[in-house]
Amino acid sequence: MIFLKTDEEIALMRAANQLVGRTLGEVAKLIKPGVTTNELTRVAEEFIRDNGAIPTFKGYPNQDGVPFPAALCTSVNEMVVHGIPNDEPLKEGDIVSVDCGTLLDGFNGDSAYTFCVGEVAPEVRNLLKVTKESLYLGIEQAVAGKRLGDIGYAVQTHCESHGYGVVREFVGHGIGREMHEDPCVPNYGKRGYGTQLKKGMCIAIEPMITLGTRQIRMDMDGWGVRTRDLKPAAHFEHTVAICQGKAEILSTFDYVEEVLGNK
Ligand code: MG
Ligand code: MG
Repeated sequence: MIFLKTDEEIALMRAANQLVGRTLGEVAKLIKPGVTTNELTRVAEEFIRDNGAIPTFKGYPNQDGVPFPAALCTSVNEMVVHGIPNDEPLKEGDIVSVDCGTLLDGFNGDSAYTFCVGEVAPEVRNLLKVTKESLYLGIEQAVAGKRLGDIGYAVQTHCESHGYGVVREFVGHGIGREMHEDPCVPNYGKRGYGTQLKKGMCIAIEPMITLGTRQIRMDMDGWGVRTRDLKPAAHFEHTVAICQGKAEILSTFDYVEEVLGNK
């Protein structure tokens, strides 16, 4: 069942998502060779709690009931999503996808950004650039009256035109009082097909794109998702509210881009 949000509820969603954006900004300040993903999640969790919110990912169960142990998913290089933070230092040339969720005043925020650690190979930098572009192309299609297939088509065609793989097994989602609500929001699809978008729907759009083939495999921990060919993968995510015209992006990369000097 898809829950349409009132303007008041969307205001609460905005606050939760802005906190996610600020948390990713705090994480951005720390990303450099030598830092561990455990340090990133520790700082993020403290920041989220200091701001009166709950880090939603911590304790979130997978299909088998295994709780995720940390506030952030940190997915390094060939890890696509759901990487569990650890004590291994990041190295020059790595990429790390950081996914963050908060629960604030009863509503959820969810956003992800893939960071470069020091100097990264040009072909990997281009994967990040194209994945982020595909997120915004998807958001352009997130307009009342259009369909989920329009979003998926926009993401898929952009990424595949660069020869990249579009992961099928994991998708975006509705979001609100629950982190994952209906509908599923695939990063692939046919124009004009799928659930019609309505004003008040809130969805997380999150392309998961691979440099090589789109095949994945699960780690033994029940969480980590890696590319089968061990080539790098990128993940960018925004939570958006469907409006009559252009979607409102409730989350933000502004804090991250400021730290990275892109603004
Ligand atoms: Mg996420
Ligand atoms: Mg999500």
